[in-house]
Amino acid sequence: MVLEIRNVSKNFGGIHALKDVSFQIQEGEIYGLIGPNGAGKTTMFNLITNIFEPTSGQIVFNDSNITGLKSYKITEQGICRTYQNIRLFSQMSALKNVMVGGHCRSTSGVFSSVFRTKKQKREEKALTEKAEELLDLVGLLEHKDALAENLAYGQQRRLEIARAMASNPKLLLLDEPAAGMNEKETDSLYDLIKLIQSKGITVLIIEHDMPLVMKLCDRITVLNFGEKLAEGTPYEIQNNEAVIEAYLGRE
Ligand code: ATP
Repeated sequence: MVLEIRNVSKNFGGIHALKDVSFQIQEGEIYGLIGPNGAGKTTMFNLITNIFEPTSGQIVFNDSNITGLKSYKITEQGICRTYQNIRLFSQMSALKNVMVGGHCRSTSGVFSSVFRTKKQKREEKALTEKAEELLDLVGLLEHKDALAENLAYGQQRRLEIARAMASNPKLLLLDEPAAGMNEKETDSLYDLIKLIQSKGITVLIIEHDMPLVMKLCDRITVLNFGEKLAEGTPYEIQNNEAVIEAYLGRE
């Protein structure tokens, strides 16, 4: 078991964003978290990465309780994420954006260019090579020197994934990676996430693009008004009456 969500609840004042939600993710799975707007999906990511602490319940990662652990420690343990709204350094190159992602696992600065020790130079070289490898993985190596803001929307989304991958995650959290993508970009995103899975990385994905979710995910949890409505394979979820009623609708 990579991740165990144990009876997690989160209140924001009077709002019950999550109510007693539990699910477990196996190593190597692509696991979907779906549901209507406001169902609590991003809140779950914010609890896993400890942007907020749960009101009650536990989050267990590789058998260790990470509830309330500082966010950088959670990254060190191997959980990285992307955000619903793209958060790149728009005035920096694609390469530097990915290097920043890798920096949280290195001991010296990426940008301290004047008085660098040999060790720092070695580290920077390793970070550069790793960043180039990841840009290649997401199909952006030829754009490594382009400013992030000059990349097309789908490329920026892929750059975010490369940056999250730079700190060697064991579990990658993707928050609506296909949002705003056209069909071609979504198809290449599918290939990329499958490629990431083939490298042994477990993926937890929030997504509203149902054809993508159903094609991509091994298992899915459906949230509705902060509660777990259903869990199962794409086939089970697509045929679950409560899920059809609350979220999927009928064809
Ligand atoms: P969407 O699909 O629209 O992104 P979601 O399923 O990710 O929705 P959340 O963003 O997790 O939903 O929100 C769940 C509920 O918690 C909503 O009612 C939201 O307004 C509330 N909420 C989330 N974050 C906060 C916060 N920081 N302070 C107060 N309320 C919040």
